[in-house]
Amino acid sequence: MNEKPDKLIDKKGIRLDGRKADELRPVKLQVGVLPNADGSAYIEHGKNKILAAAFGPREMHPKHLSQPDKMVLRCRYHMAPFSVQERKSPAPSRREVELSKVIKECLEPALFLDLYPRTGVDLYIEILQADGGTRCASITAAALALADAGVPMRDLVVGCAAGKIDDTVVLDLYDAEDKLGAADVPVAYMPSLNAVTLLQMDGILTTDEFEKAMNMAIDGCKKIYEMQKEALKTKYMVVKAEGEE
Ligand code: UDP
Repeated sequence: MNEKPDKLIDKKGIRLDGRKADELRPVKLQVGVLPNADGSAYIEHGKNKILAAAFGPREMHPKHLSQPDKMVLRCRYHMAPFSVQERKSPAPSRREVELSKVIKECLEPALFLDLYPRTGVDLYIEILQADGGTRCASITAAALALADAGVPMRDLVVGCAAGKIDDTVVLDLYDAEDKLGAADVPVAYMPSLNAVTLLQMDGILTTDEFEKAMNMAIDGCKKIYEMQKEALKTKYMVVKAEGEE
């Protein structure tokens, strides 16, 4: 985007991409898309297109990184050079190192790490196309890939952001709103346990606005959670049908 538009949201409360303030972008989820991975998932969240692949629990390489009392989760968030308008270097950026760390840390509470001592799970997240909110969409897909790999989990983890554009608190910001808006609050949430596992904030909000954004993001997570469960069921219906053939 070259020029900042006058308004990101009009008087009727309609955003530049036609959504209402509390409306999610269209989300499409698919489980078991990569035969070489133990578990995998693909997400389209608006214009974001992301693949997640999980391997393990398995012996760790190098071995000295393993822990005697728990499983180690390793996570790599990576943006393809063609995923954004201006070519992104394939080398890991500071941002990708940060996102790999926060995604790992927001998924760990869902896992029974102490059940698999001395092992590791590797999680690879590839951003094929980015349009704002990739960390949240990655978390949604990564949790599905872990579940698909058969890793026991306390709950699925869902990612969704809310934020502020002009003077309005809105759900699920896309790239232009993220860059030109006033604040972005990415949240990861385990709906059945009612537990937040990631909370970041870029920008400034009043206490009331923050509370509204949090509630909006959690509502968004709950909606995506239903889609996650559907995607898992669809995968197992296919497996079941194949077994019956
Ligand atoms: N982005 C970009 N080039 C980069 C990194 C990010 O164009 O090297 C865009 C991309 O669309 C991304 C958005 O900026 O989704 C917002 O990035 P942010 O760091 O806020 O993370 P995200 O919202 O994707 O979790």
